[in-house]
Amino acid sequence: MSEKIGVYICHCGLNIAKTVDCKALAEYASHLPNVTVARDYQFMCSNPGQEMIQNDIREMGLTRVVVASCSPLMHEPTFRRAVAKAGLNPYLFQMANIREQCSWITQNRVLATERAKDIVRAAVMRVNFNEPLEVQKVEVNSNVLIVGGGITGIEAALQIADSGKKVYLVEKEPTIGGYMTRFDKTFPTLDCAACILTPKMVSVEQHENIELLTYSDVTDFSGYVGKFTAKIRKRPRYVDEDKCTGCGQCEEKCPLSVPSEFDCKLGKRKAIYRPFPQAVPNVPVIDREHCLYFTKGVCRVCEKFCAHHAIDFEQKEEYVEVPVGSAILATGFDLFDATRIKEYGYGRLPNVITSIEFERLTHASGPTTGKIQLKNGKPPESVAIIHCVGSRDKNYNEH
Ligand SMILES: Cc1cc2nc3c(=O)[nH]c(=O)nc-3n(C[C@H](O)[C@H](O)[C@H](O)COP(=O)(O)OP(=O)(O)OC[C@H]3O[C@@H](n4cnc5c(N)ncnc54)[C@H](O)[C@@H]3O)c2cc1C
Ligand code: SF4
Ligand code: SF4
Repeated sequence: MSEKIGVYICHCGLNIAKTVDCKALAEYASHLPNVTVARDYQFMCSNPGQEMIQNDIREMGLTRVVVASCSPLMHEPTFRRAVAKAGLNPYLFQMANIREQCSWITQNRVLATERAKDIVRAAVMRVNFNEPLEVQKVEVNSNVLIVGGGITGIEAALQIADSGKKVYLVEKEPTIGGYMTRFDKTFPTLDCAACILTPKMVSVEQHENIELLTYSDVTDFSGYVGKFTAKIRKRPRYVDEDKCTGCGQCEEKCPLSVPSEFDCKLGKRKAIYRPFPQAVPNVPVIDREHCLYFTKGVCRVCEKFCAHHAIDFEQKEEYVEVPVGSAILATGFDLFDATRIKEYGYGRLPNVITSIEFERLTHASGPTTGKIQLKNGKPPESVAIIHCVGSRDKNYNEH
């Protein structure tokens, strides 16, 4: 059965009519497929405007309605109620915004009218596919999933948990904290970054409403508004979190050192390591790619020296499913790869460094204990700083 669509063009006083030729628009709409009637009127949201639509629904048997006027935020509920009163399912109504997205953004009447035609045509095409819906009340799960345990995820988790809701905080690295863990002092107050961040990290770990899943990522997210299931993969640390006391013996005795990612490879870490001493949770992880046991089948020194029998080379990947009603993505940022801009020599010249590497050099517990030095250990005689590398540069970062 073909639809019978009514299209109603609102002048919104002169808000729309000043720049859009509403009569021409209604005439145009009247020839669109399945359109039975198209009218224009000064204030479609007024009583006479709504009655006009309701009468047409009753008298002409309209099966769908399009109103081209202001933003749906403003009057979509008004028109849905109006069509429902005339017996039409309110979801068979479609709104087209020819005010905020058309008449208000240009003074060119010809262009505005053409654009309004496009918007109305799109709405008419779309309304054919609208389906009648029934409003239902469903229970909303109040649990919240937060992906990313940087300062954003941490702050969100604490505030939500303090309001009494259960939070699942998922962090892909072995510790929470994100980039802020690497800074010495932070703008604008020049407070010690760790003094602000680490107490919050500890609060996250201790909060009764927060379940912290580090070294984990979300592999599936299914369900519907207010009722989702998140599937989370926990990667093996090869250290039992329940038994480990964070004593650090294993790290001390591990014979293998490799460049530390946390220190931007300016310092070293062991094959079993915590990214930094204040990590949360304060439990090391074995780096399978380098560990002598996983690569050569020898060693197990960490196991021998762990008095708490926490090392578990048999640990496997685990999956858990958690019910949540909403999710916050707080996955932060990645640094721009400065090697892409060849003329700056990053990656080629030894003493060209990024801002984050500079942060590690200035950090009291960084690889140089806060001394700014060249790769040969000497202090620099002069320094040049290039701001915003890669940002605002359409050659490398168009989007
Ligand atoms: C050199 C430098 C200096 C700065 N100095 C200052 C300053 O002085 N003052 C200031 O206010 N700001 C400063 N900033 C900005 C500040 O670092 C950021 O605004 C802040 O760290 C953003 O925090 P975040 O939690 O949003 O992101 P991030 O710190 O990037 O944290 C995101 C977290 O999400 C995790 N993650 C990412 N993807 C996933 C995934 N798929 N699953 C699970 N976890 C995931 C990451 O591992 C990380 O832990 C500086 C930035 C830089 C680079
Ligand atoms: S794994 Fe064992 S040795 Fe290593 S920090 Fe934990 S308790 Fe200490
Ligand atoms: S088994 Fe691996 S992690 Fe453990 S001490 Fe040896 S190299 Fe280090």
